[in-house]
Amino acid sequence: MKLYDSLTGEKRDFAPKGDEVKMYVCGVTPYSSAHVGHAMSYVYFDTLRRYLEFLGYTVKHVQNFTDIDDKIIVAADSQKTSPVMLVEELVEEYLMDMANLNVQPAHIYPRVTDEIVKIVEMIEGLIEKGFAYESHGDVYYRVTKFEGYGKLSHRTLDGMMAGARVEPNLQKDHAMDFTLWKASKQGEPSWDSPWGPGRPGWHIECSAMAVHYLGGHLDIHGGGQDLVFPHHENEIAQTEAFTGEEPFADHWIHNGLLQIDDGKMSKSFGKMVTVREALSKFSSDGMRLFFLNSHYHSPLAYTDESIEGQQRAAERMQAALDASNIADATAEAVDPAPYRERFMTAMDDDLNTPQALAALFDLTREINRGNDEKKRITAAQETLRELTGVLGLRLYAEEGESARPASPLVELLAEIRQELRDAKQFELADRIRDRLQALGVSLEDGADGTKWRNRSS
Ligand SMILES: [Zn+2]
Repeated sequence: MKLYDSLTGEKRDFAPKGDEVKMYVCGVTPYSSAHVGHAMSYVYFDTLRRYLEFLGYTVKHVQNFTDIDDKIIVAADSQKTSPVMLVEELVEEYLMDMANLNVQPAHIYPRVTDEIVKIVEMIEGLIEKGFAYESHGDVYYRVTKFEGYGKLSHRTLDGMMAGARVEPNLQKDHAMDFTLWKASKQGEPSWDSPWGPGRPGWHIECSAMAVHYLGGHLDIHGGGQDLVFPHHENEIAQTEAFTGEEPFADHWIHNGLLQIDDGKMSKSFGKMVTVREALSKFSSDGMRLFFLNSHYHSPLAYTDESIEGQQRAAERMQAALDASNIADATAEAVDPAPYRERFMTAMDDDLNTPQALAALFDLTREINRGNDEKKRITAAQETLRELTGVLGLRLYAEEGESARPASPLVELLAEIRQELRDAKQFELADRIRDRLQALGVSLEDGADGTKWRNRSS
């Protein structure tokens, strides 16, 4: 598989060194509800993880919560609650939103406030090595000391200075030096440190958590393109200076941003669509198809109409999975192999989900046509179900309870099938199994009788 790496600017072979893929994805700052831009980013990284797991890799996925930040303090204040209460509520909401989008949970969700010791250790290490300095209770990273500063965003220090409005700050040695530890103001949450009470800067938390849970070398570090500079640039400077190892990550993967009304979606535009609002109108399949029909690297414009279109596409796939003609055993079968190959070729090419989906839509058409022509379609349906699952589509589950056979009915059919088998009426018994299969229920014959499994569960 090839993946684009923002650091080298090339599509390179994905070749993890250890037994498991170490993947760190920057998480949210829970100060308001997750919006559809978050949904897009996490659906992309979820799809990447699902595909790697499909290829046989074991993935260890770590994603942080920035649970202390100026924005949280301000939001808690305005809602007359505490930062801790606000964070608890929003983290729970975030996890629910992601579950509703069928995004698999990370294996570890570290939070800044639980990692202060590790963060302080890293800052102390950076001071010892001369990469950081204390000034009036704050600690800053010394960018001029790190030779590769700017390598991810492909900029020089001079270029950054020219491009940014730099506030003069007499506490810092260089205008681009950034905060590692911030002395707290009166009444703000704070933690003890060798430099007095304060709290960590934003960038250092990800370096400390990544090193703590995954070590100094990641296979994948991900986030939105808006994190390249300064966040990820600073993560590289901190981590590589601290561990003395490079590269910090083999593949830096950044998704394009979601746009609403031609502007980058950000809170300042006042046009946030929350995940909740979106999911009250659309299914998670519709949302995922909308995102995945665009390459993760490209920007995408959010409109209700485009998601509605994708929702209909999901329904077509579902219809193909529900199709249940009982073809003659000698009838020609729809061969799914070429579609599987196209799917994998596309996914192997830097997770080209639009092309992978094109293959699955062609397979969908082929199944529907085959069904009309009384061809055997069960194997093709199995492939479609498997590969749409790799993209995190549910298809069955969202039909609601009524579409799924109730269990007593399935048990009855399984029982009748067993009686038919005992009476050596295999053709009829197989028909029951095939019809149930097409309805999403698999019967598995084992030593201790027949078990059944609803595919959506
Ligand atoms: Zn981060």
